[in-house]
Amino acid sequence: MSADRVVSCLKRLGADSLERKGGVSGIDIENDARALVNDLERYPHAFVLACIADRQTEANIVWSLPHAIREAASGFDFDTLLSLPKNVWASALASSGHWLATELEQLLPAAIRHIGNRYGGDASRIWADGSSGAAVARRFLAFDGVGLKIANMAVNILIRDFDIELAAPMPDIAVDTHVLRVFERLGLLGRLEHSPLSSTKNKQKLRLPLRARELSPEWPGEIDWPAWRVGKTWCHVRRPPDCHKCYMRSVCPRDGVTAHSTAGS
Ligand code: SF4
Repeated sequence: MSADRVVSCLKRLGADSLERKGGVSGIDIENDARALVNDLERYPHAFVLACIADRQTEANIVWSLPHAIREAASGFDFDTLLSLPKNVWASALASSGHWLATELEQLLPAAIRHIGNRYGGDASRIWADGSSGAAVARRFLAFDGVGLKIANMAVNILIRDFDIELAAPMPDIAVDTHVLRVFERLGLLGRLEHSPLSSTKNKQKLRLPLRARELSPEWPGEIDWPAWRVGKTWCHVRRPPDCHKCYMRSVCPRDGVTAHSTAGS
């Protein structure tokens, strides 16, 4: 099976799966919370705060977080957040269920200050007209607590779910363990089985975005979300993959998959 056919299938999955209603896809949260993170016109900082919080916690908790902060603050205007007392941030975050609530007590107010200082309180200037995908990712990276994974994820969401038009170079794939596992099993990223060293996985994580650039040079991040979805839905890590149900089954070589495939496969 050629890599081109596998990548085409991933891209079809990405196109088929989008909710096409506008806004962040793949989350199941209450309407008020969804409306807030999708309102890039009035509250672009809501989207930025959710992206910064998007780590080590279930997506529904992450994307509901701006709404929880709005409830605690009795508003979500930029100036309200800029002057929000520490104890209000702390209580909103503590009750959110986010695993890293204590860390976010520092990171989110710092993000609001950065938006104030650098963008005059208008976070949509991060993805201003005429920007390239790479430039927007670089701007996200300037926020405390944001690494390459979150920066690329944020820009890929803006393009994919909000139809924000950005120029080349477009953002990279967001490196994630689900995406890495799926790339290996789909035969898109050769395994490094010659090496018994524990650094092999880290080496693969470095190779992954380069491979995505080779496979989808016009927009490497386009294959990020469908690969993540395959990993999350069918291509399991702690139990055998559900190949018979998987969207990719007709093109997947199941590289490294055995009847007893687990985290190590
Ligand atoms: S067909 Fe099986 S091994 Fe291949 S991506 Fe799907 S679940 Fe994973």
